[in-house]
Amino acid sequence: MALMTNFDFDLFVIGAGSGGVRASRMSAGYGARVAVAEASNLGGTCVNLGCVPKKLMVYASSFSAAAADAAGFGWTVPTPTFDWATLIANKDREIGRLNGIYRKLLEDSGVRIIEGWARLLDPNTVEVDGESYTAERILIATGGRPFKSEIPGHDLSITSEQIFHLDRQPKRIVIAGGGYIAVEFAGIMKGMGSEVTLIYRGPLFLRGFDDDVRTTLAEEMRKRGIILRFDTLIEKIERTGDGLAATTNHGDTIETDQVLSAMGRLPNTACLGLEEVGIELTDRGAVVVNEDLESSVPGIFAVGDCIDRVALTPVALAEGMAIAETLFNGNPTVVDYTHIPSAVFSQPSIGTVGFTETEARAKGYDVEIYRSTFRPMVHTLSGRDERTMMKLVVDRKTDKVLGVHMVGPEAGEIIQGMAVALNAGATKATFDATIGIHPTAAEEFVTMRTPVEF
Ligand SMILES: Cc1cc2nc3c(=O)[nH]c(=O)nc-3n(C[C@H](O)[C@H](O)[C@H](O)COP(=O)(O)OP(=O)(O)OC[C@H]3O[C@@H](n4cnc5c(N)ncnc54)[C@H](O)[C@@H]3O)c2cc1C
Repeated sequence: MALMTNFDFDLFVIGAGSGGVRASRMSAGYGARVAVAEASNLGGTCVNLGCVPKKLMVYASSFSAAAADAAGFGWTVPTPTFDWATLIANKDREIGRLNGIYRKLLEDSGVRIIEGWARLLDPNTVEVDGESYTAERILIATGGRPFKSEIPGHDLSITSEQIFHLDRQPKRIVIAGGGYIAVEFAGIMKGMGSEVTLIYRGPLFLRGFDDDVRTTLAEEMRKRGIILRFDTLIEKIERTGDGLAATTNHGDTIETDQVLSAMGRLPNTACLGLEEVGIELTDRGAVVVNEDLESSVPGIFAVGDCIDRVALTPVALAEGMAIAETLFNGNPTVVDYTHIPSAVFSQPSIGTVGFTETEARAKGYDVEIYRSTFRPMVHTLSGRDERTMMKLVVDRKTDKVLGVHMVGPEAGEIIQGMAVALNAGATKATFDATIGIHPTAAEEFVTMRTPVEF
């Protein structure tokens, strides 16, 4: 529905990442006059510095284990060698292709792309490179940025943004952090043959994930030769003759080639003129929005990582879609944040949806836990000492499945289907009545019959 106003645009979107592109394209598809400003590459973090390059690197790193596992199946594989520069060049070519697809998608839907850094001049005016544009509504979709703690020598460390573009593979790497990005890069770099030490200040990484998931992954990462040091902090980083030295709070020093700081991300909301026009921000700098994703200034909306709700691409997409539906399709849409599934592309990987056991208990549920750990079939011949862990959290009172968690090969692929079941309100009886697919790991989710004793 085209809106006749005196503004240059019906919607001006700041940031052409996951949320911004989705909102722009859909709104234009509903007839709105849309512009999107982008200061860097189209597609945002996910395409350029997040999900896509990361998953390509996970694939790259997994071939060393596959080559080792092949022997038990009769293969003789010469000692594989890995060339970092080839991977980076091939990855960059693929990302360039995706940037082009994003440009075409936006242009074909009639969205005007404005290249440059945008900032607000007033609630209806955005400036990009000295040019002013007016819009009836503005959408802030500026994403997030890595956070670094200001220890001495922190400028010698890199973040996830730089690791995708290093000229050479660091043969030794220290990764500081305990979130999913830290564990994913630990697996990536180990698989590529680097010596990896992961340092985390807490007693166990992946806070917020189910405890069985956390302990299983820690065991498996150690088996793969990754050094995990919990309850440890890096206090300073110094340059040495041919590398770096990271000193911990325990007084020891680790010699390394790179330190990757993966200590979390903050909303990307500085230098945008937000506070000047009266937009309320949290103390982490996130745009405060209501259920309709509208900020404290009417007509200015925000989606994605900059609102600091759930920093995942599919969530930014859902929020961007809700904006277009609500504002330009006469279909008020509120994003449902329950049962958001997620994966961690660690090695082995994690898939999870719903409540963890701890969360369910804290919410007062009387829970029944089903858990299975086993050696994946592929490793009966490969000889690799690796266990898969699968777990169901069930509400004893209603029989509803509250949470499904897994550590093992293809966990993300398996959990996507489980998320549909949880959304449909599946009970444990529904799981039991479902026929398995044999032989798979996934069939275990429909064959666990005996709850774990407490
Ligand atoms: C290493 C890493 C791995 C990840 N892996 C996954 C994963 O496997 N699965 C998953 O779901 N999520 C993953 N994420 C998270 C995911 O990338 C983000 O949740 C998602 O990109 C958020 O989308 P967004 O639209 O909010 O912001 P972004 O995609 O970050 O886009 C924001 C855009 O705004 C632009 N911008 C900012 N300020 C301005 C300005 N003033 N003017 C013009 N342009 C501006 C930026 O250049 C950027 O392009 C990962 C993130 C990282 C860092």
